[in-house]
Amino acid sequence: MPERMTCPVLVQLVTEYLEGVMPPEDAAQFEEHLGRCPPCEVYLVQFRKTIEICGRLPEEVLPVEVKETLLAAFENWKANR
Ligand SMILES: [Zn+2]
Repeated sequence: MPERMTCPVLVQLVTEYLEGVMPPEDAAQFEEHLGRCPPCEVYLVQFRKTIEICGRLPEEVLPVEVKETLLAAFENWKANR
């Protein structure tokens, strides 16, 4: 588990968080990130809503804004290598 919760990490851990199987210290980091990252908060809300509608965890749910945020983050990462 990385020390810093980043957007791609949060997206990967969202199912773990919603299933309640995440260790408390990771959940604290997760929630701390949500508090300062509105796109991730939106992602979580939409993800939760999708589960309510579908009655199960979706294979892949990426709201457009989050996708763009993540793509921008990945572009920066590539540019800085
Ligand atoms: Zn984020």
